[in-house]
Amino acid sequence: MNSNKRHKKVCLSGNDECRVVFCPDCGTLEINLGEHTVRTNTESLHLLSSVLNHAKVQLAQMQNKLPATPSMRLGRVH
Ligand SMILES: [Zn+2]
Repeated sequence: MNSNKRHKKVCLSGNDECRVVFCPDCGTLEINLGEHTVRTNTESLHLLSSVLNHAKVQLAQMQNKLPATPSMRLGRVH
């Protein structure tokens, strides 16, 4: 038995810095972020995707609010 079969990973999305790689041979999903590799699965990928989207929306909202909010909170209390 030769279990040394080479797994041919497929890049689903991304670029050199950040990408999602899928291995059809064993069904492995990986997220490559720079030097980090996170093993994941379809469910986690969907979860991560929605969490990231939510974070983007929240961040945009917070950044939109910033100019409208004077530095009262950052200023002195009295
Ligand atoms: Zn594989």
